[in-house]
Amino acid sequence: MLKSNQNYYSVIIIGCGPAGIACAIQLKRSNIDFKIICKKFGGIANNANNIENLLGFPNGVSGQTFVSLLKQHFENLSIQFTKDNIQNISKENGDEMFHIKCENGEYYSKFLIIASGTIPKKLNLLGETELLEKNLLNYDIFNFSYQNTIKSIAIVGSGDAAYDYALNLAKFPVKIDILQRSEETKCLPLLQKRAQDNSNINIIKKIKLKSLIEDNNKIKLKAIRESKEETRYYDLIFVTVGRSPNITFLSDELYKIYRNSINLSHLYFIGDVKNKHYRQISISMGDGVKSAMKITRNPFFRKKNE
Ligand SMILES: Cc1cc2nc3c(=O)[nH]c(=O)nc-3n(C[C@H](O)[C@H](O)[C@H](O)COP(=O)(O)OP(=O)(O)OC[C@H]3O[C@@H](n4cnc5c(N)ncnc54)[C@H](O)[C@@H]3O)c2cc1C
Repeated sequence: MLKSNQNYYSVIIIGCGPAGIACAIQLKRSNIDFKIICKKFGGIANNANNIENLLGFPNGVSGQTFVSLLKQHFENLSIQFTKDNIQNISKENGDEMFHIKCENGEYYSKFLIIASGTIPKKLNLLGETELLEKNLLNYDIFNFSYQNTIKSIAIVGSGDAAYDYALNLAKFPVKIDILQRSEETKCLPLLQKRAQDNSNINIIKKIKLKSLIEDNNKIKLKAIRESKEETRYYDLIFVTVGRSPNITFLSDELYKIYRNSINLSHLYFIGDVKNKHYRQISISMGDGVKSAMKITRNPFFRKKNE
């Protein structure tokens, strides 16, 4: 593959969440040619109700406002992103370049940054897929648009995302049940306190879900609590029971590199995709800036700029 090929870039970034965006801005400042590809601009930051731990936002900022500022930053720097779905990424032994196959095109690059974040874990319950297809169940909140037919919502989970979703949805005239499997709540104490103080939110602990089925355009949820079977009805359900690294598109060879945390000067995994328990915006952004600076210092670009 020749560098003159229109599908060749020195650097390709996968993902336009905080990690990929920070990387792109830093590369732009160093005048390095790159392409950034994603499915959803802003990534899962779009889901956040109120981001309160970001420097520069003393009063907090909603996820959607934060993402619109990131978009503005891209526009000010004339950075364009390509909306596409990555299907496969490979680099076989001996290949000089990464091969990135998307739904609508394919690209090659010398350096590759993978900032693809995470994917939600499923409940793996009977009826889950059908409810998802009918838009009665969701894992993300950014697609939610309130309709006055929605009176009751269940949120499954006990972490920050579950409580953040509940507080976000409690702005509407709806009754929200947070359904958590254990007694223990895993979210930040301040989120827990706000949920407890909100009259629209009810926290139900030690509930084990058994099945979810559609019944007259409602969700019929069967569960076990205190050894008794119970049935609950909701208009909508959100599932936030954890997230896994989003790496399904990696070739076997690249997956081995990811799994064994092998450091290479041409390939970087940044942000939530590799941060396990430390999935935060500022950490992702720091990863983005650092990977771009490492690439800039690579002899490949040093020679080019001499
Ligand atoms: C409800 C909620 C509240 C949160 N609140 C806070 C908070 O208050 N403070 C804080 O610091 N953090 C918060 N977070 C966490 C924060 O949003 C993440 O840590 C951050 O967004 C991770 O950035 P990232 O760039 O690594 O990944 P992501 O934001 O997940 O971005 C991944 C990118 O990869 C793209 N992508 C993935 N797969 C493909 C594919 N196959 N093809 C093309 N593109 C693909 C996506 O479209 C997206 O653009 C919150 C998260 C949630 C869910």
